[in-house]
Amino acid sequence: MAQERKKVLIVGGGFGGLFTALELAESTNVTLVSDDDHFCFRPLLYEYLSGEVEAWHIAPDYKELFGAEINFVRAAVEEVDFKNRKAKISSRDELLDYDALVLAVGGVTNFWNVKGAEEFTLPFRTIADADRIRNQMVRALDKVSPTLAPQDARKKLTFAIVGGGASGVELATKMSDLLEDAFLRRGLKGEAHVLIVEMSDKIVPGMGEDIREYVEKVLLEKHIDVNLQTKVLEVKPHGIVYEHNGEQSEIETVTTVWTAGVKVNPLIEKLDLPKDEHDLILVNPTLQVRNFDNVFALGDIAKLEEVSPILVGTAQIAFQESELLAKNIKAFLSGKDLKTKQFQELGEAVSLGTRDGAVIVGGNVVGGFLARDARFALYTSRLPTWHHRLKVGASWFFGGTSPKPLQPLGIS
Ligand SMILES: Cc1cc2nc3c(=O)[nH]c(=O)nc-3n(C[C@H](O)[C@H](O)[C@H](O)COP(=O)(O)OP(=O)(O)OC[C@H]3O[C@@H](n4cnc5c(N)ncnc54)[C@H](O)[C@@H]3O)c2cc1C
Repeated sequence: MAQERKKVLIVGGGFGGLFTALELAESTNVTLVSDDDHFCFRPLLYEYLSGEVEAWHIAPDYKELFGAEINFVRAAVEEVDFKNRKAKISSRDELLDYDALVLAVGGVTNFWNVKGAEEFTLPFRTIADADRIRNQMVRALDKVSPTLAPQDARKKLTFAIVGGGASGVELATKMSDLLEDAFLRRGLKGEAHVLIVEMSDKIVPGMGEDIREYVEKVLLEKHIDVNLQTKVLEVKPHGIVYEHNGEQSEIETVTTVWTAGVKVNPLIEKLDLPKDEHDLILVNPTLQVRNFDNVFALGDIAKLEEVSPILVGTAQIAFQESELLAKNIKAFLSGKDLKTKQFQELGEAVSLGTRDGAVIVGGNVVGGFLARDARFALYTSRLPTWHHRLKVGASWFFGGTSPKPLQPLGIS
């Protein structure tokens, strides 16, 4: 009689959880629980905002990605009983049991308790967030008439992005290009005001000097207003209060987007597991949670010693960890020795608007349209499942990846 397959429960269907599930699918009884019905390939979320890619390209439904081997449950895990190996999920009374548990619930936006930030800014982590930002841009543009003087149009179309990391810069450059195009199409005078507010003394602080120089050049060319060593003190419904050089000022904004931080998912705060001062779960090099042999954690919620700081909080490491984790789960379930792995920096690539990008090739920065296309090709190769990659690759090859203009509401 065939032996019953051991149960692996994976919580969270992002880079860590989804890729682990796909690696394990053929050999194990896998259940993936995630609170959304689709994956999100976040490195291309900026391109979704600009219309260069479609939602189905970067956010495929789990049901489309999984064959019969993976059992998908759309729900949020609310509690875990580690002793009895059971997880409680929203909307169901029954508990899900497991032999091995994988925690991969990622992070959430950190508003750092700045007054009004959670209430009056838009985060940028999901397809729905990108839709909201795009809709607000369209609505704001619709209120500006071609007869309005340039300085008034600029004031009415001030978009602030809080956080000058890669996310803030990629978002600002996309928004700037979309707005530039909209000004031309709608015959508006002047240009919109896109500003970045960054607390530290440099833009993209996590990136190398060479790529930063290129990013700074592009920001200057696009007239993006970069405010360094500037701290947001309060966000209001239509503006931000900030401090620079000890002086407080206020600026009116039509939309403020918050890209200034990530913290661990609230589920992790609740769980009684070993953690560091930032609530990151302490894991061994095998990705087992310390002192919990059958519980594994990876991605944005896991703290692994001796990992390059550049890799912390990235899809790059979550993706590499998923490969090791799948192997170690198989080893754990069959009583074999678990392995460790050195994680690599897979390179830096940023999108800088709809016509530009920057990538590092052989240690040198390559910028421009070529870099934009190279980034697209690189990311196509990292999408989940060969079947999905093929469909998306074909769609980009035959259909192109041109941005969609910010049309007035009602026109598509
Ligand atoms: C806009 C943006 C752009 C980025 N670009 C890059 C980039 O270019 N390169 C790079 O390396 N990294 C990038 N990152 C970072 C990268 O996305 C994360 O590091 C990566 O997604 C972490 O993977 P993860 O599996 O830990 O978590 P996630 O990918 O966040 O996945 C977590 C999953 O868990 C689900 N979930 C949450 N709570 C529960 C619960 N209680 N129950 C069940 N499911 C739950 C979520 O819905 C989600 O599906 C970017 C991030 C953002 C926000």
